[in-house]
Amino acid sequence: MSSESTTIRWEQDDTGVVTLVLDDPNQSANTVNKAFRESFAAITDRLEAEKDSIRGVVLTSAKKTFFAGGDLRDLIRVTPDTAQELFDGGLAFKRQLRRMETLGKPVVAAINGAALGGGYELALACHHRIALDAPGSKIGCPEVTLGLLPGGGGVVRTVRLLGITDALLKVLLQGTQYNPRRALENGLVDEVAETREEMLAKARAFIDAHPESAQPWDRPGYRIPGGTPSHPKFAANLPAFPANLRKQTGGAPYPAPRNIMAAAVEGAQVDFETAQVIEARYFVELAAGQTSKNMIQAFFFDLQAVNSGAGRPKDVPARKVTKVAVLGAGMMGAGIAYSCARAGIDVVLKDVTLEAALKGKAYSEKLCAKAVSRGRTTREKADALLARITPTAEAADLAGCDAVIEAVFEDTSLKHKVFQEVQNVVAPDALLCSNTSTLPITALAEGVERQEDFIGLHFFSPVDKMPLVEIIKGGRTGDEALARAFDLVRQINKTPIVVNDSRGFFTSRVIGHFINEGVAMVGEGIEPASVEQAAAQAGYPAKVLSLMDELTLTLPRKIRRETQRAVEEAGGTWTPHPAEAVVDRMVDEFGRTGRSGGAGFYDYDESGRRGPLWPGLREHFTRPGHTVPFRDMQERMLFSEALDTVRLLEEGVLTSVADANIGSILGIGFPGWTGGVLQYINGYEGGLSGFVARARELAERYGERFTPPALLVEKAEKGEVFRD
Ligand code: NAD
Repeated sequence: MSSESTTIRWEQDDTGVVTLVLDDPNQSANTVNKAFRESFAAITDRLEAEKDSIRGVVLTSAKKTFFAGGDLRDLIRVTPDTAQELFDGGLAFKRQLRRMETLGKPVVAAINGAALGGGYELALACHHRIALDAPGSKIGCPEVTLGLLPGGGGVVRTVRLLGITDALLKVLLQGTQYNPRRALENGLVDEVAETREEMLAKARAFIDAHPESAQPWDRPGYRIPGGTPSHPKFAANLPAFPANLRKQTGGAPYPAPRNIMAAAVEGAQVDFETAQVIEARYFVELAAGQTSKNMIQAFFFDLQAVNSGAGRPKDVPARKVTKVAVLGAGMMGAGIAYSCARAGIDVVLKDVTLEAALKGKAYSEKLCAKAVSRGRTTREKADALLARITPTAEAADLAGCDAVIEAVFEDTSLKHKVFQEVQNVVAPDALLCSNTSTLPITALAEGVERQEDFIGLHFFSPVDKMPLVEIIKGGRTGDEALARAFDLVRQINKTPIVVNDSRGFFTSRVIGHFINEGVAMVGEGIEPASVEQAAAQAGYPAKVLSLMDELTLTLPRKIRRETQRAVEEAGGTWTPHPAEAVVDRMVDEFGRTGRSGGAGFYDYDESGRRGPLWPGLREHFTRPGHTVPFRDMQERMLFSEALDTVRLLEEGVLTSVADANIGSILGIGFPGWTGGVLQYINGYEGGLSGFVARARELAERYGERFTPPALLVEKAEKGEVFRD
């Protein structure tokens, strides 16, 4: 028998078990859209009306995923004006879930695939959760990563299921996505099944054994596990909560963790219905705010656009790499070899000596051993990965490679030499990539015979952890090479952004502005500790002076001098940045070259561990009592990067807004709450006009480098935003 409901199918067998099959006919995944809400309301009406003939309910889906949750296209459009509508709609939906939960009949979630966010919240409103151990299946509440909280009862129910502390730490604050086994270990589901049949059989067994199910929190005498804030034992833990919050956000403007914590703690002190209203209020506040819009735009829409190939030439057929030559088994080459082998690609790892190549492979051995010991992979899989990496010192071993990734020292003539050595050994149409971080690709290409097959593939360190690869199209790079490079990056599960050739490309050039601004502030006499705090509280993952120490003070100086020479040779004038004098003094006068040299803006012990900021900074640079507004300090860093990104758009180095946003967050640590370096401008108070006005103010106070570029002013005047 079938109902009229459009997104949920009603299937009832002759034993009185109703299977509700989530199956939105208009989408590949089920979401909480208008059609679903209407269907669900009709279903709950029917469940209540036909209750006497129903023995139990199984909720499952006909899609690959169980349920995808809230529709982000709707959520990103919420404004303070439509907030009330969201609040009312949310509470109405929660009431339907509550009706199902209090039906008096057992309701089982048969979670056949991913149940994230609203999908898991739907499962939480069931009395029993059985997850199918399907590959790639994930369970959890990742809303926090989009600047939101689970507003479908997820905070209220996880708190009542797991207790406040576990709900916060295991589910809500980090947004961890668990595979079914780990979801079971952490109490998010009750059982795991190997097959769909087993899952459904277990669901029936539960219904047979629990004819009159109720949620634990609806039973007499229920208490929240671990106690509530009114319990003295639990209350003693409460002061640690704000400290944890501070640790998570670094003081940066992420409102979601704060709202989640407040909804959990406040909601634990009241009855279920009131807790739902509290949760709804905190949810709507987040949804109507700017941060969730920034984060949804970046981590959902932009990321999807970038990964799905917006920057890839469309008419080149997809092709997979089967055997890659990695030249140079140093820090980058070793990481690149591991990432390729992990994706199933055979790797020939070449260095000048076999010993050096073996050392490069040892890096993969270390990573594999760690993954096995932590249960993230099996010994067999790790062995298979390692077997794919062949270390060598012989160019002849590169025969048959269909791609080359070069990662030798940063030296043009050396790079030319290694390509000459291998270009006629590898497959005749092999893709030729360089992992240079600074050398212009067009000039590097001059050292190879097939310049149209030559391209920049800029990985970030540590390669195994960093998700971004910046693809740099040289002046003569062909579309085919670009498409193949894009496919290779996707093949190794990384995110590719595409830029045109220019000194420092996009990422290295823009991060240079951030660092220069921090260093310039030290030179102005501002307390170095305040500069570090400003970076942390703006949301940068690494403090600015410590980052400079990591990169070394000498490398950026070398690059700066080369750039200066190039500018002057081309007839231009070099405008020195105030940071340059500080770096020159640090290196020339005090011999402090950064962490690898044992001393930089910070002191280091013999093992290279960072100690305190170097006291000499205060002695030689700080003007006691000299301060500038803290907000100026933060915005000088953020604006310097955003303004240069606009210049890169003007210059045609960048051609996509999504690439800029994603590249800035994933590659160079631009704070995630902004939604990326161009979305930061879009979302700034007062929009683009507000940003332009503020940039002019900063230019007046701190220097012409903050003058807004023409493209920005023009867009602000037209009332536009940066969007592809
Ligand atoms: P590294 O010094 O750790 O490794 C370079 C390796 O190249 C060494 O093992 C060396 O023995 C080997 N090598 C030198 N000559 C060779 C030859 N003729 N044939 C084969 N191997 C040779 O350097 P790294 O940090 O891995 O950097 C490598 C490249 O990656 C550079 O171009 C660098 O600019 C770029 N890069 C570095 C980073 C980073 O964070 N370190 C980030 C992005 C890109």
